[in-house]
Amino acid sequence: MKIDFGVHMRGGVITERDANFCTVRIRLPAGIATVEQMRGITRIAKKYGHGFVHCTSRQTIEIPHVSPSKLKTLEKALAKNGTPIGSERDEIVNVIACPGIERCKFANIDTASLAHKIDQKLFGKEMPVKIRIAISGCPNACTSPMLNEIGIIGRIRPLRITGQCTGCGTCVKYCKENAIIIRNGISVLNEATCVQCGVCVQSCPFDLLKAEHRHYLILVGGRRGRHPHIARELITIDNEDMVVFVVEKIVNWVYRRAWSGRLLSEQMDDLQFETFREDIKQQIAAKK
Ligand code: SF4
Ligand code: SF4
Ligand code: SF4
Repeated sequence: MKIDFGVHMRGGVITERDANFCTVRIRLPAGIATVEQMRGITRIAKKYGHGFVHCTSRQTIEIPHVSPSKLKTLEKALAKNGTPIGSERDEIVNVIACPGIERCKFANIDTASLAHKIDQKLFGKEMPVKIRIAISGCPNACTSPMLNEIGIIGRIRPLRITGQCTGCGTCVKYCKENAIIIRNGISVLNEATCVQCGVCVQSCPFDLLKAEHRHYLILVGGRRGRHPHIARELITIDNEDMVVFVVEKIVNWVYRRAWSGRLLSEQMDDLQFETFREDIKQQIAAKK
């Protein structure tokens, strides 16, 4: 059997329990593929695998039971299809995203656009630790961004225009966090319990609630698995391009400072996360 170890050693090629076969994971940012690409993937899976595919928890597709001798031609076929081999080892792995503003009525940001921008900049970069990136369009957090090494959540801080509130209570009914009450005939927001989902902004029949601050919350150092860990809040950012800038800074910080063999969540204090946070704030202020 002639094996091309260049392809075999790629992160997206996973040796199976039966070492005569491997599973090939595809790069599919935000889990989005065109109908043509899906046709291509099924055709390739039929030709090089055993006629089926597996949809993974990281929104990508795997082609199981591939003979290592076929990897080179499989790699070319996947690249031609616009769905190249993905990554899995200590790398930046498939960026996942919820449907976002294009399809979900709760979304505050364009998750797919952001996922593609981050993928274009950083996908597959070798790292001392595995970096999973997850994006959610609102605090409902359907992609569990707080359980990823880097998480991004789209939020809205609401503000009521002063002077015209009728006290109708519609916004109170919509807020699942009980963060709005009617006091002295007008609505009052409790910022301590508000999760900045933005739902109330769309609820006011008189259009008195505004999105005072639409932003991206960036989290670092989460993980799932056998010892789940909630990520730490790093910073809030106003626009998509600046989010890409910050994510790149996080990746470079981890690349230079993190030790391999330990999960990122286990070494956040050793990496001086608080110092990094201050440094990032200063860099962003300097860019404005
Ligand atoms: S996280 Fe929010 S925006 Fe994304 S799918 Fe879930 S509810 Fe919709
Ligand atoms: S943004 Fe969400 S949590 Fe905050 S007050 Fe409005 S509905 Fe409630
Ligand atoms: S829905 Fe609008 S008018 Fe009614 S209580 Fe809320 S802010 Fe006031």
